[in-house]
Amino acid sequence: MPAMLPGAPHLARADGALRLGGVPLAELARRFGTPLYVYSQAAMLDALAAYQRALAGRRHLLCYAMKANANLAVLQTFARAGCGADIVSGGELARALAAGMPASRIVFSGVGKTRAEMRQALDAGVRGFNVESLAELQRLSAVAVELGATAPVSLRVNPDVDAGTHPYISTGLRDNKFGIAHDEALAAYRLAASLPGLRVTGIDCHIGSQITQAEPFVDALDRMLDLVAAVESEGIVLAHIDLGGGLGIRYADESPPAADALVARMLARLDARGFGTREILLEPGRSLVGNAGVLLTEVQYLKPGAARNFCIVDAAMNDLVRPAMYEAWMAIEPCVERAGPARVWDVVGPVCESGDWLGRDRALTVEPGDILAVLSAGAYGMTMASNYNSRPRAAEVMIVRGEAVLVREREVIESLFAGERLISG
Ligand SMILES: *Cc1c(COP(=O)(O)O)cnc(C)c1O
Repeated sequence: MPAMLPGAPHLARADGALRLGGVPLAELARRFGTPLYVYSQAAMLDALAAYQRALAGRRHLLCYAMKANANLAVLQTFARAGCGADIVSGGELARALAAGMPASRIVFSGVGKTRAEMRQALDAGVRGFNVESLAELQRLSAVAVELGATAPVSLRVNPDVDAGTHPYISTGLRDNKFGIAHDEALAAYRLAASLPGLRVTGIDCHIGSQITQAEPFVDALDRMLDLVAAVESEGIVLAHIDLGGGLGIRYADESPPAADALVARMLARLDARGFGTREILLEPGRSLVGNAGVLLTEVQYLKPGAARNFCIVDAAMNDLVRPAMYEAWMAIEPCVERAGPARVWDVVGPVCESGDWLGRDRALTVEPGDILAVLSAGAYGMTMASNYNSRPRAAEVMIVRGEAVLVREREVIESLFAGERLISG
């Protein structure tokens, strides 16, 4: 067990009972059933406040990368706190608008925007498009001209820095699909400036996720500023600099920089290089929500064996795929502590895949019926959930000022095949 619970101080143990936002988690499992995602609104707002503090007095826009957790109540929470959204699909745009997020605070990222998505975003009047290729520039120009609109454009540049994170979540290296190569960016800006229906507004980058050091961010910033100077020497003005997201959180014993310290360091670098008055955009995802949420699951069976001991729970890789997909380590804690010696368990789900595990080699004192909490599950948990094995997706609850609010109903089985048809004849 980590020395301090990830998610503290919002997540804490008192009298043996694990609580989030003061509410005992085992009670929520009884009341709403399992598997259950539970989020603390206060934890999300605290995480946001760290960024806002550091940016106070600067022209800025924080765009929450909603793919981390797209529940409407989460988006509403951030929208009301003045935050915008970074979206990567038409579906996310619709969700953000449904949650009350103003279009003027939404930026549209992603390598594969379709024409329909571009039209949808132009009709909504989003704040801007982060464009990732020359072909996308051409398409966006054509779509905007067709609509008689002007698309605000920022180019996502690939600064070619190593974010030092898992290869699947590293995005700023030359050999991955994201962004425009640093040495092709100048030509791309010339093209953007020449195409009808486009207005160049800024530059952006996003170098990866779960980055636990400040250096890759500062390196990327330096590479970006070189480019800003080169682009502007040709008379193309970049009104904003978008530094993306990617700040990591503590799952186990990582010690990522605090958001305010990291932002302060980046602002100091901007000042030192004479770009201190630019509007700054950031796109944090995981660092705003990751440690604000847990996944609750009930122990079904214990299956001790010669080689390994299995603790079979009712949550699975379809509910939380990070362990199976990235071999991610996430803390697992009993919601009510039991006396007695611990045993080492592999905590696994019921899905028919050997990769269906939530945690391996965990020392736990458990019995069937106990509720376990998978910690740090507020980001890339529910948004990556699937219906594999025809499992309905979990319910979601948010703790708002000490009260548990159901913010998504548990999916009903019938809805899983409601759109399917039997063949007639
Ligand atoms: C995923 C993503 C983010 C957020 O990343 P986190 O690691 O969750 O902070 C920001 N910007 C873009 C373009 C992304 O794809």
